[in-house]
Amino acid sequence: MIQIKKFTFNPFQENTYLLINENNECIVVDPGCFSSTEENELSTYITENKLTPIRLINTHFHIDHVLGNLFVSTTYKLPVTAYQSEIDMVAMAERSAELYGIPYKASPKPTEFLQEGDSIHFGDAELKILFIPGHAPDHIVLVCEKEDFMIGGDVLFKGSIGRTDLPGGNHHDLIDNIENKIFTLPGSIKVYSGHGPETTIGEEKMTNPFFK
Ligand SMILES: [Zn+2]
Repeated sequence: MIQIKKFTFNPFQENTYLLINENNECIVVDPGCFSSTEENELSTYITENKLTPIRLINTHFHIDHVLGNLFVSTTYKLPVTAYQSEIDMVAMAERSAELYGIPYKASPKPTEFLQEGDSIHFGDAELKILFIPGHAPDHIVLVCEKEDFMIGGDVLFKGSIGRTDLPGGNHHDLIDNIENKIFTLPGSIKVYSGHGPETTIGEEKMTNPFFK
């Protein structure tokens, strides 16, 4: 059984998730911790619950999702895992930090890569990787059908979808990918989004204004 712990970090109110398995191992997804208070909040939770972080995975390399990469990667000696993109997403994150005027401790470059169809064994469960570009050109999501949830990054939100006006965004691709790759999954799957509250695939199919 996987437990999911959510933190909301940084000026962009980004959701950072810990996936915790029955062996007390955890995967850190999209560490967005920014201030030392936020870094402490994350590391204290990990220490107090006697967790062993075994992976750091980014759903995509937008600045708000990688602000805590250096901290997590250094503290727990973890390589950064992300989609292998031809675009230099690390440089892009640095440029957008300058644009937003936020101090950015540059993320280490990803050295482990995931692509569509990969599976991650995690305790008793398996996380399947889907490639869902549209919001960002390097966007992946993690789906656990056995336990009925997905970590969706900025693809699908409760009542909305990810913005597509940032570099590499494509509205048509995003709509297409959600309809063909996400809405074809069981409706009961709970979606943990990169911003805002959780939802389910079924609820979004019925009510999301982008798919009416
Ligand atoms: Zn994003």
